[in-house]
Amino acid sequence: MRENPLVELRRRRRIRRMLRTMERLDRKPVRARRVRSTSRLRAVSAVVVLVAGLGAMGFRLTHTSGPPGWPQRPADASDSPLGQPPDVTTTGSFEFIQTQPGSDDPVTYDPCVPIHVVVNHRQDVPHADRILGSALEEVSQATGLQFVVDGESDESPTWDGDAGTADGWNPVLVAWSDPDEVVDLKGNVAGVGGSTSRAVGRHQWFVTGTVALDGPRARRILARDPDGEAMVRAIVMHELGHLVGLAHVDDERELMQPHGSRMTTWGPGDRAGLAALGSGDCVDY
Ligand SMILES: [Zn+2]
Repeated sequence: MRENPLVELRRRRRIRRMLRTMERLDRKPVRARRVRSTSRLRAVSAVVVLVAGLGAMGFRLTHTSGPPGWPQRPADASDSPLGQPPDVTTTGSFEFIQTQPGSDDPVTYDPCVPIHVVVNHRQDVPHADRILGSALEEVSQATGLQFVVDGESDESPTWDGDAGTADGWNPVLVAWSDPDEVVDLKGNVAGVGGSTSRAVGRHQWFVTGTVALDGPRARRILARDPDGEAMVRAIVMHELGHLVGLAHVDDERELMQPHGSRMTTWGPGDRAGLAALGSGDCVDY
């Protein structure tokens, strides 16, 4: 969790982009807005490349272009991992959501790039920012992955594959939502989370993702339970665990156990899995 001028710039750019699109496409569903926005941005990038080429700035383009089919190199990418996971000596149960083809190695986020996050507050809860900030910090400490909260979004949570534009991958969306908006939250489900992967050659990376939290349920937990904030934070941590690549395990000593428990922090297996998920390769831009 940190703010820097670059992030602020990107955030302002996104908000400007969002406002422009909203003016034009008022009352269209959110999804349609984003699709329109994507194609418009592609056109803009093509123009920028042409102008830069004429200006004999080809070296910059070579330096910043991404792998085939990928956006350009993020301006805040580093040549080495931004953080390191702690040494984990405990053992326990953990499973990865996705492994590399023909291998037990997990699919991970690129540890050389911060994971940008935007938040939809439509159904948020008292102290939502504190709870999310603390949960992100727990994931960051256990993985070494760095998160940057860029600001707010009015986007609805979806998992249908629109991962980004030539300008960059979409930021991760954390949405305080409800079962009317996200059908997966119906029944005894407090949240859902997951990420989208993309390949360079045969190696896969998570590039963006979505977490949807049942705001009304979280508000009830906060209202009735003295440990409500720790419990809601645990729900957010569990979903962020999915986001960075942990799957469920049938083990009551782990937070990634699917049926809920009184656990409010990582178990030993969670920690081992998260350390592995923070130790992936960096994308070679
Ligand atoms: Zn789960």
